[in-house]
Amino acid sequence: MNGQGTGQLQAEKLPGAHNQLSGQLFDNLPIAVYTCDKQGYITSFNQAAVKLWGRTPVIGEDLWCGSWKIFHPDGEPLKLDSCPMALTLKEGIAIEGEEIIIQRPDGTRINVLPYPVPTYNADGELVGAVNTLIDVTEQRYSEAKQAMLASIIESSEDAIVSKTLNGTITSWNISAEKMFGYNEQEMVGNSIRQIIPKTRWQEEDVILEKIASGEKVEHYETYRLTKHGIEIPVSLTISPIRNSKGQVIGASKIARNISRQKAAEESLQHYASNLETLNTVGKLVSEHLDVEEILQQVTDVTTKVTGAAFGAFFYNKLDEHGESYTLYTLSGASKEAFEKFGMPRNTAVFHPTFSGECIVRTDDITKDPRYGKNPPHYGKPQGHLPVVSYLAVPVISKSGTVIGGLFYGHPEAGKFTEYHESLVESVATQTAMALENAKLYEEIQKLNAKKDEFIGLASHELKTPITSLSGYLQIINHRLPADDANKAFIEKALSQINKLTSLIADLLDISKIETGQLPFTFTVFDLLQLVHEVIEAMQYSTKTHRLVLNTNLDELLVTADRQRMEQVIINLFSNAIKYSPGASLVNISVSVADNKALVSVQDFGLGITHEQQERIFTRFYRVEDLGAGISGLGIGLFISKEIIKRHNGRIWVESGQGKGSVFFFEIPV
Ligand code: ADP
Repeated sequence: MNGQGTGQLQAEKLPGAHNQLSGQLFDNLPIAVYTCDKQGYITSFNQAAVKLWGRTPVIGEDLWCGSWKIFHPDGEPLKLDSCPMALTLKEGIAIEGEEIIIQRPDGTRINVLPYPVPTYNADGELVGAVNTLIDVTEQRYSEAKQAMLASIIESSEDAIVSKTLNGTITSWNISAEKMFGYNEQEMVGNSIRQIIPKTRWQEEDVILEKIASGEKVEHYETYRLTKHGIEIPVSLTISPIRNSKGQVIGASKIARNISRQKAAEESLQHYASNLETLNTVGKLVSEHLDVEEILQQVTDVTTKVTGAAFGAFFYNKLDEHGESYTLYTLSGASKEAFEKFGMPRNTAVFHPTFSGECIVRTDDITKDPRYGKNPPHYGKPQGHLPVVSYLAVPVISKSGTVIGGLFYGHPEAGKFTEYHESLVESVATQTAMALENAKLYEEIQKLNAKKDEFIGLASHELKTPITSLSGYLQIINHRLPADDANKAFIEKALSQINKLTSLIADLLDISKIETGQLPFTFTVFDLLQLVHEVIEAMQYSTKTHRLVLNTNLDELLVTADRQRMEQVIINLFSNAIKYSPGASLVNISVSVADNKALVSVQDFGLGITHEQQERIFTRFYRVEDLGAGISGLGIGLFISKEIIKRHNGRIWVESGQGKGSVFFFEIPV
């Protein structure tokens, strides 16, 4: 059915006021209008009303309202006979602004303001009513949206502020008030620069410029100023505000206080860096054997991680008077700051540390009951470091001996916490261990030095009688007639004496190497010639092995100590023979490469495992279980290595167990 037609027709038929509505105008009004007769039957309606109801009412059937269902604004159902139009007809009065909700057949709901007005005929009798329905859905929706937004802004924990493009504040929420201390009245209309530190004003210019060009600034971390002049770290998100035409007219700014986050980040960073430092100390104390270095590092690092102004380690050593602790290392102050003062150990303050009784940590040592009780200072001596916060941790060895104490001070009160205490405590345990190791090492060093001294002395003492023994035997040998059968014995004795002499010479060399006094005499000579000579001499006394030389050279001139080089070559040849009991060949090669003379000695004997190869060049090392009859002192390769090193050369081995060995050495030509 055509709504427009029906409406027009019915309006024309109606008497009185209804007839006054011009059909055309009525039907084309953009506002919904309809009329009812006295009984409430709908008598006319325009097109806007049909649109609003979502249906076309049936004339003579529909009562009071063209809508199916109506509700109160709170959503409660409203009976049709109680709707504003019904009331107007019942009571003959106009009703204004009683908002209702109407539901269309498709289920959509519309907020409507009805304005029913009664109509009377010329005799003043009520003949019906005309109702105007105003759709306020949009308005209600945006009101609700507005209210919701406002409540979000008010309940947000972030400061939400809007401003114009020149930085004038246009809104300021509760959180902004809480965060910056200014209330809305103080801020709206004023410049945002009020909360920006002067040094950061330029930052605001850049931000406003970006916003003006339509850009957004996200998670920008900076500082803002509170009413009390405190700078707080904030994270800003600033977005442009646009008008209906899309032009940027201002900016909305959300500021989040990131103090806590910053503090957490900082403390995490602090914690991590402390851990790292402690890790370094741990490594350091376990790697170093130098007492002074260990203590200095420990003192420096712990002074840093505790935030102390001064830190010190007092070693548990009695001074000449048998009483005082001697200052060992110091951090944050000069040694002179302490040296003037005696450090009596049995004062009430120091006793717990030096006796290893417990850790002492106090926020203000000058207020501690133990403070100021003992002579000679009765408290802090004049000119002493200004210690108020105090922390002292004993360094105790595994066996329970107090090695010393770590002491920390700060001129302000309450600087040291339980955390610092436990940090230093764990470092103290590590330090005690490191100091014990260092002490053991020191003792070993001393014993070693004694042993070297003994070897030096013993070999020297042995040399004298052996030299005279050899002299006498040579004289006897000369005096015996050439065909005397005893000559053979004398020669055997002399050869044994030679072996003994070379052993003693090796021992002497060892002690000279240790003291850095192994002498060298450099001359230019032919190394190839030397190798030939040694082969010849050794082949003479060796019946089991053949010494074979491979070389393309005629001559190989080097600048070296001839005697020492001979010593190396003899050592390598005799080892090759000695450690290849089942073999019969030793291959020797002499060559030049990269301006270096290279000598190699290959045997087909026992071979050396990879692990042993690293150790055979050290002093007194011999591979175990070599089998019976292979004797030695484990010093030949050590001396050879030292000799080659002093020639700026290199000595090494390539071998494997049971595969024979090749020893190489090279020296510059
Ligand atoms: P010594 O031969 O007096 O024991 P060295 O310093 O000359 O002392 O050699 C050290 C160790 O190296 C020897 O005890 C031996 O175990 C090993 N070694 C040296 N040369 C060889 C070799 N050619 N083959 C196998 N093992 C060797």
